[in-house]
Amino acid sequence: MRTPVIAGNWKLFKTIAESVALINELKPLVANNHGVEIVVAPVFTALSPVCAAIQGSNIRLAAQNCFWEEEGAFTGEVAPKLLKDAGCSHVIIGHSERRQYFGETDLSVNKKTKAAIAARLTAIVCVGETLAERESEQTFSVIEKQVQAGLAGLAVDDFAKVVIAYEPVWAIGTGKTASDAQAQEVHLFIRNLIAGLFNQSIAGAVRILYGGSVKPDNVKGLMAQPDIDGALVGGASLKAESFAAIATFNV
Ligand code: PEP
Repeated sequence: MRTPVIAGNWKLFKTIAESVALINELKPLVANNHGVEIVVAPVFTALSPVCAAIQGSNIRLAAQNCFWEEEGAFTGEVAPKLLKDAGCSHVIIGHSERRQYFGETDLSVNKKTKAAIAARLTAIVCVGETLAERESEQTFSVIEKQVQAGLAGLAVDDFAKVVIAYEPVWAIGTGKTASDAQAQEVHLFIRNLIAGLFNQSIAGAVRILYGGSVKPDNVKGLMAQPDIDGALVGGASLKAESFAAIATFNV
């Protein structure tokens, strides 16, 4: 019922030429897999060239961040409608690296999510606890706060344009993956939270991705969990072979 999403977050890697080369390598490897929504998120400067390179393929384009205003004196920012203009269908919001290094808060995540939806982009909203929070048994309270505040004020119809990514901070780029059961436990918690905050039908339909050292050898176990609907992939999305292996977990 929920189409899986496999999204590659390229972070601050790759020139335009390298980005286009990666797409050209990836395209034939995933071409026949129409059962999965496959998304790549290059750096801003590569969005337009990558948009051209994915034409006619089943790969879709995301930005890694956006601002919440449409235009104005906001030097250095990029508005959701400009991302749409550059060919994006998705945007990642509130990645833990943005929360950690760039002062992203639940409030800014909320404003950006609303602005992205208003521009008809699918917002991939990231949440996740740090190692200290997990060790002090605050995982569920942290996730609850991030989901509640990040999605506050959304209308029921907005959820067609929302994907949630659960990314335990301690598993990002560390090679440490949450176990299938640890990830499933939090995904189920998020789904129940959405049911309480919004309604059961939204909770049943919203895609919840797992992120944190997803690799070809652990994707199948994660995807076999009933509440895991896809993956947000960092390191392993930078090579066509490993990202294609993850994006074709179902074949
Ligand atoms: C990410 O960047 O969202 C991520 C999960 O990175 P990695 O797969 O490298 O842990």
